[in-house]
Amino acid sequence: MTEDNTTPSNHFIRNRVRADLEKNSFTLMTRFPPEPNGYLHIGHAKSICLNFGIAQEFNGQCNLRFDDTNPEKEDEEYVESIKHDVEWLGYQWHNLFFASDYYEQLYQYAIKLIEIGKAYVCDLNADQIREYRGTLTEPGKDSPYRNRSIEENLDLFQRMRAGEFQEGERVLRAKIDMASPNINMRDPSLYRIKYAHHHRTADEWCIYPMYDYAHCISDAIEGITHSLCTLEFEDHRPLYDWILDTLETPCHPQQIEFARLSLDYTVTSKRKLHQLVNDNHVDGWDDPRMPTIAGLRRRGYPPAAIRDFCERIGITKKDSQIDVGVLENCVREELDHNAPRVMCVLNPVKVVIENYPENQTEQLDASNHPKRPELGKRQVPFSREIFIERDDFMEKPAKKFFRLAPGREVRLRYAYYVTCTDIIKDETGNIIEIRCTYDPETRGGKSPDGRKVKGTIHWACANNSLLVQVNSYDRLFNTANPAASEDITASLNPNSLEVLPQCYAEPSLADAKPGQAYQFERSGYYVRDSSDGADGKLVFNRTVTLRDTWAKLNK
Ligand code: ATP
Ligand code: MG
Repeated sequence: MTEDNTTPSNHFIRNRVRADLEKNSFTLMTRFPPEPNGYLHIGHAKSICLNFGIAQEFNGQCNLRFDDTNPEKEDEEYVESIKHDVEWLGYQWHNLFFASDYYEQLYQYAIKLIEIGKAYVCDLNADQIREYRGTLTEPGKDSPYRNRSIEENLDLFQRMRAGEFQEGERVLRAKIDMASPNINMRDPSLYRIKYAHHHRTADEWCIYPMYDYAHCISDAIEGITHSLCTLEFEDHRPLYDWILDTLETPCHPQQIEFARLSLDYTVTSKRKLHQLVNDNHVDGWDDPRMPTIAGLRRRGYPPAAIRDFCERIGITKKDSQIDVGVLENCVREELDHNAPRVMCVLNPVKVVIENYPENQTEQLDASNHPKRPELGKRQVPFSREIFIERDDFMEKPAKKFFRLAPGREVRLRYAYYVTCTDIIKDETGNIIEIRCTYDPETRGGKSPDGRKVKGTIHWACANNSLLVQVNSYDRLFNTANPAASEDITASLNPNSLEVLPQCYAEPSLADAKPGQAYQFERSGYYVRDSSDGADGKLVFNRTVTLRDTWAKLNK
């Protein structure tokens, strides 16, 4: 997958764009339109990969446009994080815009709608508007203010802008059809009064455009050709088209809807992600367990794996829940190819090699990537005292346990064959030291006489290792559909983080840069965290295990 020689699968949007480009000559223009009211999540990645990816593929352009029409919920912090995330995913926008750049134009278009008799100022309050709207089975009723004169509407709308009315006192509405079977067409609101400070326009405005009004006009202003959005906007398309047709905008983008991404064992709604952060269930938006792009980055998910995932799941018109294992497998494949191998002992027990000279340290060659010799070698130090994983020793070995046990010989990866001769326990019966002898003829882990060992284990030199902290992350939720219950916290996985404070890593890890990925041999893929531990230790986050351990659990 890293050598990208596969042709992209033909989903319906790709086919549609291709067909449109064959019919007419134009530059494909798309946009990714996030609202800056939270951090982006894996669902947004699907939209980013689609919008930016398809523009790239057909020599078009994609804008990043912030849909900033809800001043109370939006913030500059989110703007900056979204820009960073899009770039990190590997995309560059053609232009960076804000819907708030268009406030004056949007206002002028609203004046035009009033002037042609297609919009009116309505004095009904929110409850009354709802009541007049009707239901799916009953038509709505005309507002008593529907037939105001154009002059009166112009005057009232200008006074709305001038701040003469209270919030909720008046709205501007489109004049369409209160009996339309599509409720979105029953004179939807276009502008509401809000005395809120906007993160870009400050207090310049006290009326703000509604999403449905601002979005289509913003698309038209930017010359977007294909406006790709999620399925919940399908019923809004007639309104999108009505506004642009009525205003006779020079450009009329085609809105096309696709299914949202939903992943099992995850939530992808900003409201729920806010809840996790605000109630301290996680350690911020970039907690490595979060499905945010910032969290996935800190967890060590490579951007190429996320892009690959978005391509693999495809684009359809049908909502479905994707197995999070598919995403994890994309991460494994990418890291298997690119992550250098190192040794790190997570749960150490000491081994003393009795016949190895005291005060001697030797450097042993270790391959950085067994499947890719071109990635070279490094050296790892070896001496009389080493650490191995507690799990790699059993005093009374179970059937099929081929690792170290009393009297048994195993291979120390890249080093020697060792045989366990004795164990030392503390007064509670805990093994505190394992004694072994080694065979000097087996240097490099090679057998001198054809003698075979069944187990190979990793290790770390006791005196020449780096003491690091490892955070073993697991899924944040332990049920497949946490959003099914109103209280998502009920299905939080209590074991989603295990901190291993005393792990011994080979010294080459001292050079690890934050964000750099490794395979800890036999354990999984790990990445150096963006911050060090309080005690100055380097911290490594578990990105993903070597194999899918959840798949087995669910069988
Ligand atoms: P949320 O419901 O989480 O608040 P949203 O749709 O309100 O998400 P926006 O910031 O408006 O978030 O989304 C920006 C773009 O990303 C929109 O075009 C939206 O359709 C798309 N998007 C959001 N969530 C998903 C998802 N789960 N799958 C695919 N696209 C998504
Ligand atoms: Mg939205």
